[in-house]
Amino acid sequence: DAPILIIGAGQAATFAAEALRSGGHVGEITLLGDEPIGPYHRPPLSKAWLAGQSGDAQLALRPPAMLEKKQIRLRTGSRVVAIDRAAATVTLADGETLPWAGLVLATGASARRLPIPGVDTPGVCVLRSKADADGLAAGLADCRAQGRPLVVIGGGFIGLEVAATARQLGVAVTVLEAAPRLLGRVLTPLMSDWYAALHRRHGVELVLDARIEAIEAEAGRVSAVRLADGRLLPAGRVLLGVGVAANDSLAREAGLACDRGIVVDACGRTADPRIVAAGDCTARRLDDGTLLRLESVQNATEQARCAAAALLGQARPFTATPWFWSDQYDHKLQMAGLSQGADAAVLRGDPDGGTPFSLWHFRAGQLVAVDTVDDARTHLLARKLLDAGQGPTPAQVADPACDLASVAT
Ligand code: FAD
Repeated sequence: DAPILIIGAGQAATFAAEALRSGGHVGEITLLGDEPIGPYHRPPLSKAWLAGQSGDAQLALRPPAMLEKKQIRLRTGSRVVAIDRAAATVTLADGETLPWAGLVLATGASARRLPIPGVDTPGVCVLRSKADADGLAAGLADCRAQGRPLVVIGGGFIGLEVAATARQLGVAVTVLEAAPRLLGRVLTPLMSDWYAALHRRHGVELVLDARIEAIEAEAGRVSAVRLADGRLLPAGRVLLGVGVAANDSLAREAGLACDRGIVVDACGRTADPRIVAAGDCTARRLDDGTLLRLESVQNATEQARCAAAALLGQARPFTATPWFWSDQYDHKLQMAGLSQGADAAVLRGDPDGGTPFSLWHFRAGQLVAVDTVDDARTHLLARKLLDAGQGPTPAQVADPACDLASVAT
């Protein structure tokens, strides 16, 4: 019945707490979150919530009463500033010291900022928290009222989702991407081009290969983004959507191995048997020795269950196929598996003829990932096939008459 402290009160923290309780831990479980509110869903912050289509109640991950019922204590506004492994305590920002017998690190990640002149100008923002989203929602209303555009720096998922939501709200949008294509780290050129065309059809001004020189201000507020080629793009707000950095400094300062994330094994274990970690703050060591960083709801949820089991003395390695989704306009992208390192991609359906369609990725003839657009059934089938290590051949995928569901046994 020794106390377990969970640092963070987000997706991974909440699922770890619940898994500890349902796994038989009878002692205290405390969530220490630095935000002023309890656990909430982050994905809607760039989608339905930002569009004004869902309220705060729907944003909550768990109503407080549910945590209370499970005797999970939630302390909001409680920032942990240090972990003392020898004394088995943590210190909060106000100096309070709390003892622990087991520790879950679920500190998530922070949005990156860019080292460009003017980046600290009022009106330049990031989107990670509910507080960020409140500010951005007000900013979009100002943009619309003043007829000034939102400029999104970074053509990744969060930037593009916000761009789509802003267009739906009637705000002019410019997206600046430094690479020659959108979502280049995770999607093939075919998918990148499809997303570029989708955004342009909805009126987004898209600048690829963008070289940003500075963010300009007028009367102390952001007014434009200046490119290296001399173009001056007017801006009422600027959103930096240039990725995140894992919140691993507490772990590093406590002497735990970190490499762009807290290094954990497949069970969420650090080198200290009393300390586990889960979610966006981690870098998971794979069998081949490489480190995998994932930033997704499924990764946080699944890794939290593994980490909780590890603290309870059980090995529950992460074996599930990674999956992710992104909603832009009225289209849903779902990705199953990891397509990085694939050597062939086979298209099913006709992206130019509308949705649904899917892209099946192979490495040495073995199915490794499937991206689907507006095709939830195929996404679920793909997860089933990938979980089972099965899969159709590239020729079967390329044959529209082949029933791929029949490949699963
Ligand atoms: P978080 O949810 O970030 O929780 C970590 C918590 O720890 C935070 O509240 C943080 O403030 C707190 N914390 C940090 N340091 C301390 C400290 N020292 N003391 C106390 N508390 C601390 N994923 C998808 O799969 N699909 C999507 O469509 C999708 N859309 C997204 C849209 C947006 C706008 C964002 C921001 C993320 C989106 N994600 C999406 C990613 C997903 O939300 C994250 O992967 C997930 O929330 C990670 O959970 P986590 O618990 O690791 O981190």
